[in-house]
Amino acid sequence: MNAFNNYEVWFVTGAQLLYGGDAVKQVDSHSNDIVAGLNQSGNLPVKVIYKGTANSSKEVESIFKAANSEDKCIGVITWMHTFSPAKMWIHGLTLLRKPLLHLHTQFNKEIPWNTMDMDFMNLNQSAHGDREYGFINARMRRPRKLVVGYWKEEKTQGHIAVWMRVAAAWADSQEMLIVRFGDQMNNVAVTDGDKVEAEMRLGYHVDEYPIADLCAVMAKVTDDEINTLVKEYEKEYDFADNAKNGGKDRKAVIEAAREEIAIRRFLEAKGAKAFTTNFDELSGFDQLPGLASQRLMAEGYGFGAEGDWKTAALVRTTWVMCQGLPGGSSFLEDYTLNFDGESTAILESHMLEVCPLIAAGKPRMEVHPLGIGGKNDPARLVFTTKTGAGIAATIVDMGNRFRMIANAVDCIKPKPLPKLPVASALWIPRPNFEIGAGGWILSGGTHHSSFAFNLTMEYYEDFAEIAGIELIEIDENSTTNDIKKELRFNDVYYLLNKALK
Ligand code: MN
Repeated sequence: MNAFNNYEVWFVTGAQLLYGGDAVKQVDSHSNDIVAGLNQSGNLPVKVIYKGTANSSKEVESIFKAANSEDKCIGVITWMHTFSPAKMWIHGLTLLRKPLLHLHTQFNKEIPWNTMDMDFMNLNQSAHGDREYGFINARMRRPRKLVVGYWKEEKTQGHIAVWMRVAAAWADSQEMLIVRFGDQMNNVAVTDGDKVEAEMRLGYHVDEYPIADLCAVMAKVTDDEINTLVKEYEKEYDFADNAKNGGKDRKAVIEAAREEIAIRRFLEAKGAKAFTTNFDELSGFDQLPGLASQRLMAEGYGFGAEGDWKTAALVRTTWVMCQGLPGGSSFLEDYTLNFDGESTAILESHMLEVCPLIAAGKPRMEVHPLGIGGKNDPARLVFTTKTGAGIAATIVDMGNRFRMIANAVDCIKPKPLPKLPVASALWIPRPNFEIGAGGWILSGGTHHSSFAFNLTMEYYEDFAEIAGIELIEIDENSTTNDIKKELRFNDVYYLLNKALK
């Protein structure tokens, strides 16, 4: 979980001085125990830092201002140990720009039936205080995650852990540069969108660079660098005969390595976290840089094909959320359908660009012709994916808002595809193909998506809440009628949303 080591989450306990200084001292000591317990649980990916009790409006304001200006702080957890009159939170909550989690818990697990007196009850009144605080969040329409449960329980900690992963991905997206080599594929609508709004709303900064700039970097790549990288390929992957040393297509592997080195160097120089390519914009390239896209995705660079910068950014965000979890994430595209009753599935692939983190076995380096783009035969990693549950997600621009669409899917084992030498996945959308694919299409979802094993809908709920964007969830509980109604309701909600605040 190294990706999270540079981050911290602040814990602030709400109280007031009504119950006297001794009570506040006890609140402080309980809070310390809770924070220590959370950190020692081993269930949280990000360290929790206790920031003390807040007993007045000024104290809340001062802690939240500090949270805003501390780069390491990716979010704030608030808990009302005692009754904390909520007007004192208004100024602070108005200025807090970091993600907020409201934890509704209690220090004691059980009521001490035989000994409880009024003092104990006054000290342990989160049931009371968290409602007062809940009201002000509701009244202010403050985006937040509410976690309800006993703080020592794994389930409660699990909800906090999800939010932490999403908050880390959110912090990452606030300084995300997406480099585009070429524009959108001409005439394609769904992958396009408002880049100014994307930067205001999601933090994404999108820049275009001429492919000639990348070619200038590529011209300086040395043979030694290429040899070193190809040796790395040989350690990591199986090789088809024509791709091996002395094989008739060995040159394609060498040229693919040259492209990979150049793109990585270019992205590093710009400080970019994601990039897009376009097969219509490859002047000076030997081949479509598919292998480079596959390997750079595995390193954590977001990728979108055909200029799809929104998906490139979401692939990066998904990779951050997945850090340290098994399964992996990737860019994917809905390609071909396999009608088979209740097992009707979608073959997910792309021309070449599927991330090897989701491979079931050792990927195989192969070189084959590609009937698109008019370049030389490209090298690529070929594999099928693991099986199991995951989420496919996308973001589309609805004109007055961004809409995230997330679909729970189950990856199943495909039959061999001897004539299709690209990486692929085969999944059944939940609740089934008819409602899952139908709901995605009704919502205006892209043909491209960001996919991850082992994430749940909760991650996307937290992300949409923090970003303040619409989320259409399609899972085992969805019906077509509910999705259609939600789309209509949301159109009204987002028109009125600003007026409500
Ligand atoms: Mn595509």
